[in-house]
Amino acid sequence: MTVPLLDLHAQYTPLRQALLDAVTRVCDSQRFIGGPEVEGLEGELCDTLGYPHAIGLSSGTDAVLAALMALDIGPGDEVITPTYSFFATAGCVVRVGARPVLVDSEPGTFNINTAAAIAAITPRTKAIIPVHLFGQAADMAPLVEAANQRGIAVIEDAAQAIGCLYQGKPVGTIGAIGCFSFFPSKNLGAFGDAGFVTANDASLAKKLRLIRTHGMEPKYHHHLVGANFRLDAMQAAVLRVKLPKLAGWSDGRRANAVRYRKLFAEAGLGEVVLPVEAPDRTHIYNQFVIRVPERDRLRAHLDAARVGTEVYYPVPFHLQDCFADLGYKKGAFPIAEAAAGDSLALPIYPELTDAQQSAVVNEIRTFYRG
Ligand SMILES: *Cc1c(COP(=O)(O)O)cnc(C)c1O
Repeated sequence: MTVPLLDLHAQYTPLRQALLDAVTRVCDSQRFIGGPEVEGLEGELCDTLGYPHAIGLSSGTDAVLAALMALDIGPGDEVITPTYSFFATAGCVVRVGARPVLVDSEPGTFNINTAAAIAAITPRTKAIIPVHLFGQAADMAPLVEAANQRGIAVIEDAAQAIGCLYQGKPVGTIGAIGCFSFFPSKNLGAFGDAGFVTANDASLAKKLRLIRTHGMEPKYHHHLVGANFRLDAMQAAVLRVKLPKLAGWSDGRRANAVRYRKLFAEAGLGEVVLPVEAPDRTHIYNQFVIRVPERDRLRAHLDAARVGTEVYYPVPFHLQDCFADLGYKKGAFPIAEAAAGDSLALPIYPELTDAQQSAVVNEIRTFYRG
């Protein structure tokens, strides 16, 4: 049995006609930039999150970049980020000319260690970017409290966590700006690159909209230097078909996580460490990441058995070549380094069948027990 890491066909097939109709609607309108599809999606995102401002953008990476630009972060400024995340989180900080100040993960969840983040604050700190990694919220309350006391902005990197709750609140509605991605492998995926940002503050939202289109308002009058960070109408139309399905898909992912826990318990595989769910954080399982001995050999075994897996992420930021000038050494962040060495993402997409999940666990059992 083949078990891919992600099966987008399984999601596409039942929605095929509705998606083709949406794409046809955009083609027939010949309106590709802005317009009713983008505005419609933005309104529906606000309704879904119960939040006043959602601004469609070209990608999740551009969402982080636009957030930093909107907060006027640049040379001389420090921005605290976890060392263990997707590259964009720290890459965008460098792109605006600021310095990423990296911190280790908390034991258990892979998310930023809040106490370490607060300890890393200096007079130069302008923002903290917690990442809600793999679909589980970072521990926001202490971070937001510490940041508010010092006038520091919290930018949530919620690229992997749309629909995830922290103490009952959707992530992306807790800090000053929330950054989301519609990359096809995220829980709500476009047919290409896309993303959005959220904000509570009307003037900040207005600035983010200006940044999205070269700081231009009205046409050819520029208030600030922005970029082309626009979301395509075609992507917005596709996302409007999928958004109403998102909550059900998240439930499916959570149900699959429950089933994995049952299957692993039955298999008696004590050496496999399952994802830790922190209290008061609704994990929406963009990834189901286990921790295992002999990870690379297990991965090769699963690959040969046609079970798709991935390593998120093999190299934390502080050990990346492009950040060598930040001066961090191996051993600086032992929790993240350990996770980079033993974490393995298993298939968790909502359409995964019982039989496929059993096959995954059986193959892992075969690897360790023969
Ligand atoms: C996917 C992702 C991004 C970037 O989103 P893109 O749409 O791929 O640019 C940023 N941060 C995290 C944590 C991500 O997982």
